[in-house]
Order: sequence, then C-alpha cells, then structure tokens
Amino acid sequence: MVDLLGLHKRFQAEMEAAVLGVLRSGQYIGGPEVAAFAEELGAYLGAGVHVVPCANGTDALQIALMGLGLEPGDEVITTSFTFIATAEVIALLGLKPVLVDVDPETFTMDVEQARRAVTGRTKVILPVHLYGQCADMTGLRALADEHGLALVEDAAQAIGSHWNLGSAIEPDRRAAGTLGDIGTTSFFPSKNLGGCGDGGAIFTRDAEMAAKLRMICNHGSKERYLHEVVGVNSRLDGMQAAMLRVKLRHLDAFNMARVAAADRYDALIAEVNASDGEQLPRVHTPARDPFSGHVFHQYTLKLGDAGQGASLRDGLALHFTEKGIPHGIYYPIPIHRQPAYLKYGIDPADLPVTEDLTNRVISLPMHTELTEEVQGRIVGELAAYLRSL
Ligand SMILES: *Cc1c(COP(=O)(O)O)cnc(C)c1O
Repeated sequence: MVDLLGLHKRFQAEMEAAVLGVLRSGQYIGGPEVAAFAEELGAYLGAGVHVVPCANGTDALQIALMGLGLEPGDEVITTSFTFIATAEVIALLGLKPVLVDVDPETFTMDVEQARRAVTGRTKVILPVHLYGQCADMTGLRALADEHGLALVEDAAQAIGSHWNLGSAIEPDRRAAGTLGDIGTTSFFPSKNLGGCGDGGAIFTRDAEMAAKLRMICNHGSKERYLHEVVGVNSRLDGMQAAMLRVKLRHLDAFNMARVAAADRYDALIAEVNASDGEQLPRVHTPARDPFSGHVFHQYTLKLGDAGQGASLRDGLALHFTEKGIPHGIYYPIPIHRQPAYLKYGIDPADLPVTEDLTNRVISLPMHTELTEEVQGRIVGELAAYLRSL
C-alpha cells in the first residue's frame, strides 16, 4: 500500500545525517530538533499556529480533549466511519461518543446530522478529515459557534490539505487542523508526513491553550515537580523530529505526487467505466470537494450502487489478493458495530451511509513512488475482475 523504503532512498543521506546528528548530540528527549520541528511545522501551517509535539496521533486527540476541561458524561460528536482512535479517546476520558453519519460523496461528517445530534450535554464536535480531504469546516464552524461548542479536527490523514473558508471567488484557504479550536495529527510512518516510528502533534492558534496542552503532555507540569493538572507523558523524540524536519521540507511535493497518482487512477478507471457495450458494475472514483484540497492519504473507491452489499467489494479484494495486489478496506467495521462501543447504544439504522460505505469501499495502493505502469496493472486487474462477473 505504501513504499517507504523507496521514498527514504531518495533522501537517504539527509535522513541518515539527521539521525546521526541526534545520536551524537546526546539529547534524545526534547532538545533543539523537537523545538525546531515544532517551529517549522507551525510556520508551514500558517501564521499564528502553535504546534505541540507529542508521542502519537492518538495521544494528540486525547490531550486535545483534556485541554478542553470536559466533565464525565459530556458528549462529543464524531463520525463512526473513522479509525478507532477518534472514538477511543472519547471513551477513555469518560466522555460520551455520539456517532453521526457521513456524506456519501466525501466520507466526512454530515453537518446536518451533526446538527441533529446536538443536545444540552454536547461540548465538542470532532470531525475527521478522512483519506486526506477536509470535512465541511465552514458548516461545522458555524454549527459549533451557534451552540458554543469546541471544534477539534482529527487531521491525522490530512496534513498539508486545505479548506477554503471563503468563497469560490474570494478564497480563504487554511491548513487542515488549524480551522477548529484545536487540531491533531499523526506522524505514524505511513501517514503523509511520517516519521520512522511513532509521533504526533496538536495545533492551536490560542497561545494560552498551547501552553496548557504542553503542560498536559508533560505530566501536567510547567515547573519541575509541580503538577497543576493531571497530565500524561507524551513526547516526540529527537530522532523522529530530526527526520520529520527533513521530510517536512518536501511535504508539498509528496502530496503533489499523491494527487498526480490519484489523477492517473481517475483517468484509468474512467476508461474502464466507459468500456463500450459492456454492462460493468460502476466504479466510483473519489469525489473532490471544490472547497477542500485533497492530499490522498488513501485513494478510496466505492463499488457499485448504494445498497449494493459487500459481495462485489469482497470479491474484488479476493481477486486482488490472488493477483498479489495490495489493497485496504478502511474501515471494515464502523465504530458503532465494534464490541467495545455497543454500550453507547448507537442504532445502525441512524447511520445508513456509514453502513453502506462499509460494504462498498476499497482503497488502492497510494504513495509517492507510484508509477503509471504499476497503476495500469492495478486498474487492469480491477477491470479483469469486473469483466469476470
Ligand atoms: C492514524 C490515525 C490516528 C492515530 O494516530 P496514531 O499516531 O497511530 O496514534 C487517529 N485518527 C486517524 C483518523 C488516523 O488515521
């Protein structure tokens, strides 16, 4: 699905020098590389953005919620069609995950469904910028402001993506993760900006909040051995920061390579859909929201029509496995069907889009090293499967 070795080979000398520099510095936790990375990432994300590095993207979400001073039982609205971490941290903090449906085209939070889920106990709206495209931050910001709610963005899959808060004519593009009150991301190796180990970060434009989040990351302490709040131990290490600094300089180029690969897939699949005289099941390439950038953390297809069931998709996954073609299903079981989350009593009938997408999505290999030839082979196997039906 990804080719990290191929990518790292292109930057081998720079990355090895970065690691060796930290090894020889004797400063492994904190230190100048972590500070410089936070500074550079903040500058990349936009003027006035504070970056608080931490140990991983899951911690980033947990710490963001801890920064909001919530109470047990407070409700956090998020989606069911996401990686488990998003809901997990809500549950872990004794808060109540309220899972709403997503838009069938963009796979991100449906603003109207979020609006309907607001109650007197709602405190936070937590959209996920799934697969690299932003949720409707204009609509969600308005909804959050209307009810005095905090807006926290899970931008683990969307670093380098942008949302246009303005209009088509007068755009006001802001980096994913900087539109809400707090944003979070992950530097897990396969993410668009990935380290060679775990890492994460929290973003905010509020300097006071940044100081509080930094304190929570450090056992709730600003001053050594004085603990103002209950915190956690969550740190980005120096070697990861040094390598991430190298990769951050190329992040836009990496994301452009992904978009170029997505464009090639789109064109190849359009040819399959247009095949003369054949009644092949429809393959829906990813929709692109005109208000959002897309950094294609995943290139995710929808197979067949709404209500299709899983057999067409599962058949393709089997065919790909037989032909040695990597593929992924993100995510095969939505959160509301996970055994640990059944107790929140979310009715699948309230999440028809999520239920449908769970049956129909499949992601193709997507990374910076894809070539037209490899993509041609992948789409060739997709077409062969459809014609075999
Ligand atoms: C990867 C990911 C996370 C968690 O990041 P880790 O660094 O693996 O903890 C959270 N949310 C989403 C949507 C992700 O894709």
